[in-house]
Amino acid sequence: MSKYIYKQVMRDYDRDKLSARKKYEKRLNEVYDKCPKVRELDKKINKVGIEVARSILRGDDDSKGLAEELKMINKALAEEKKIIMRKAGFKEDYLTDVYICAKCKDTGFIDNIKCECFNKRLAEKAYDMSNIKEILKTENFQKFDFDFYSDKVNVKEGISPLKNIKSIYSRCVEFTESFDKNFANLLLFGGAGLGKTFMCNCIAKELLEKGKGVFYITAAELFKLIENERFDRDENADKSEILNIIFDIDLFILDDLGTEFQTALTSSEFFNIINTRFIHKKPVVISTNLSPENIVNKYSDRVVSRFYGNYDFLYFFGDDIRILKLTKGNIINK
Ligand SMILES: [Zn+2]
Repeated sequence: MSKYIYKQVMRDYDRDKLSARKKYEKRLNEVYDKCPKVRELDKKINKVGIEVARSILRGDDDSKGLAEELKMINKALAEEKKIIMRKAGFKEDYLTDVYICAKCKDTGFIDNIKCECFNKRLAEKAYDMSNIKEILKTENFQKFDFDFYSDKVNVKEGISPLKNIKSIYSRCVEFTESFDKNFANLLLFGGAGLGKTFMCNCIAKELLEKGKGVFYITAAELFKLIENERFDRDENADKSEILNIIFDIDLFILDDLGTEFQTALTSSEFFNIINTRFIHKKPVVISTNLSPENIVNKYSDRVVSRFYGNYDFLYFFGDDIRILKLTKGNIINK
């Protein structure tokens, strides 16, 4: 998981801790106003606590016994508080129910071990930051529409677009299911409007729901980002953190490879991303309109050598879905 997301989550915990503290103080004052006896009891509890602490500091022989006694007294006083509060109409947990997660009191940790709410928050944050949250409501495996693919055998390919897409679909589902077990990378290629981006989104949604961090970006955006990052490093502190995410995130999705503007600098950094992720066994999903031959022509040998053998090439063919959708829409409207 990206350090950046981790930091953001820790910041959220700090914010929530503070707001829980404020909520607690407000409620406590309410209770004190309504039941002055509770304030007295709290003072008593504090006083006993301080006495015991002093005794421990002095190294008194009976400090251990005192601590035990303190526990007993506190328990009794707490019980008394509860009764008074109940009589005044307060709920039993009125002073304790101020946290989002009562288990870790919004710290994210219980005795230095991550609370179960921690990973949930990481996943939610990654989801928020995946910048495709809205799209994923409509583009996911459940909503994938096979009707746009013809069942007529394509003479050149020897199978129908429908049969082809079903096999790609299965491979992508399997990719998400075995994500933790089998390290794999996917390269989705073929003409425009055949559902490659849609398929990328299906994969993203599935993994985000499993609590994985997913980062999606188009190649044009990525190369622009690299360019900006290198030239105005100081002014674009945020951007460098985005690059950190790209190196670090569980799944990196790069859409529309081939549409970007390349320079020596950006293509070297591009190799760096692809290579570093490969070395650390962090999966990448790429979509491109380029044919394998064009990929070979456009990218450096070292990038190409990373793709071949290490990426599953999934070939999309058929009729442009965007045009089919338009026609379908027209028919419905008539
Ligand atoms: Zn928790």
